[in-house]
Amino acid sequence: MGFCLSKFKKSRDIPISSLDPPPQSHHHHPPPHPPPAAAVPPPPPPPPHLNIGPILRKPYIDITTLYDLHQELGRGQFGITHLCTEKSTGLSYACKSISRRKLVTEKDIDDVRREIMILQHLTGQPNIVEFKGAYEDKKNLHLVMELCFGGELFDRITAKGSYSEKEAAIIGRQIVNVVHVCHFMGVMHRDLKPENFLMVSKDDDSNLKATDFGLSVFIEPGKLYRDIVGSAYYVAPEVLRRNYGKEIDVWSAGVILYILLSGFPPFWAETEKGIFEEILKGHLDLQTSPWPSISNGAKDLIKKMLTLDQKKRITAAEALEHPWLKKDGEASDEPIDSAVLIRMKQFRAMNKLKKLALKVIAENMSEEEIKGLRQMFNNMDTDGSGTITYEELRTGLSKLGSKLSESEIQQLMEAADVDKNGTIDYIEFITATMHRHRLDKEENLYKAFQYFDKDNSGFITRDELRQAMTQYGIGDEETIDEVLDDVDIDKDGRINYDEFKAMMKKGTLDFAEQLKMG
Ligand code: ADP
Ligand code: MG
Repeated sequence: MGFCLSKFKKSRDIPISSLDPPPQSHHHHPPPHPPPAAAVPPPPPPPPHLNIGPILRKPYIDITTLYDLHQELGRGQFGITHLCTEKSTGLSYACKSISRRKLVTEKDIDDVRREIMILQHLTGQPNIVEFKGAYEDKKNLHLVMELCFGGELFDRITAKGSYSEKEAAIIGRQIVNVVHVCHFMGVMHRDLKPENFLMVSKDDDSNLKATDFGLSVFIEPGKLYRDIVGSAYYVAPEVLRRNYGKEIDVWSAGVILYILLSGFPPFWAETEKGIFEEILKGHLDLQTSPWPSISNGAKDLIKKMLTLDQKKRITAAEALEHPWLKKDGEASDEPIDSAVLIRMKQFRAMNKLKKLALKVIAENMSEEEIKGLRQMFNNMDTDGSGTITYEELRTGLSKLGSKLSESEIQQLMEAADVDKNGTIDYIEFITATMHRHRLDKEENLYKAFQYFDKDNSGFITRDELRQAMTQYGIGDEETIDEVLDDVDIDKDGRINYDEFKAMMKKGTLDFAEQLKMG
């Protein structure tokens, strides 16, 4: 489901009831409890149907009467996905469950309704996951869809021994096809990244499917979008300038293609702020290793997809006709440099370990903490200008009971105000406050460290990390070794708290996730 910073986005009223059949009359029950007798002051009237779920506006359904739920398949910012089997048919599906606790505001609920509508709208299209149904109980919303057995895209690629431009082109073509299908069907995806592409099966030539439409919207012709959404590495420059259209999806697909061919993201920095700055600069490196060994056709396509000016950027339909990408096109069978695969694997494993650590932190955060931080984002920009002045920041923070001193606020403002114009725009705000409030909170970070350090030795050993990572299905022996190599700065075979901290502070997380978690 979606998350965006702008509270001024016009809410779009697409009646979900037009797609969902109305509830069956025999499911209507009177409210189980009559309102209590004459109290002073009089209590508000009870909701008309206590057995109707507020999200789907359909009767609550206990999903376990229809499906058996099994092991966890994966988790993202918003949902946890489990394997499930339909009782009546024995068929397997994937069930993404979103906790009601994460659906706080009307907007959250609108967003998740929109995700369902878009899934229903796109189902049946090639390279898009098939939608089966939505069910609501008192604790969760469940979206049941086609099971993609093959796992996440990067896991599959990095499990290979070697890999060619041809294979990259076949994958790239399916990714661009998702963009094409979405745009053709009037949908802008807004969150294209490797984690949201799954392999249908474990076969070598398995198809790829897009699964996550949580940030997608129906395209309104002529409308300019302003919400900052997406994930740091993949976000298009015009999103950061808060004025964009569907061309952003081509950009994100171009970033994925760049990683598929080189093993590292095109716009990279140690911090998120740095990543955004690189994106806005838009300097594309197609010269240094391994690029000299990559074909000109591939580089030509990447250049066209990562064109800064969105008006000059290639469209998805045009890209599908590009000689390198088109079916049986010119991409060669030659294996590409093995260093590319190794780098991709490391990129992947590091992000996964960080996600796991963040999950520990999030689970240790109270509901109040999460709510408070979310409110802060919604409330800060009081005049709706899209920027926060020093005054707004100060009053906003004190209203929210922040204990920051005047000089700390001044510091925050100075640190955040990258272009030194006296105001903080949304990007500056995200990058500055996020870390301060969650990651930099030493106790949270320390809690996460302790979680891994099972025997309280002050070190995370290889065994402890292996245990945690296998518990969450993160990786094989080899991947774990790679992560250790990268995090273990002093190379003593274990990770101390400083090394752990350094890892967590590198800017490699998606910011939607950071926002969601505070
Ligand atoms: P979120 O909106 O929270 O990011 P996603 O829809 O991306 O949720 O799902 C989170 C993870 O669950 C995915 O990255 C993937 O590993 C797993 N997953 C999601 N859908 C499926 C599916 N249809 N089949 C198999 N695994 C899935
Ligand atoms: Mg996702």
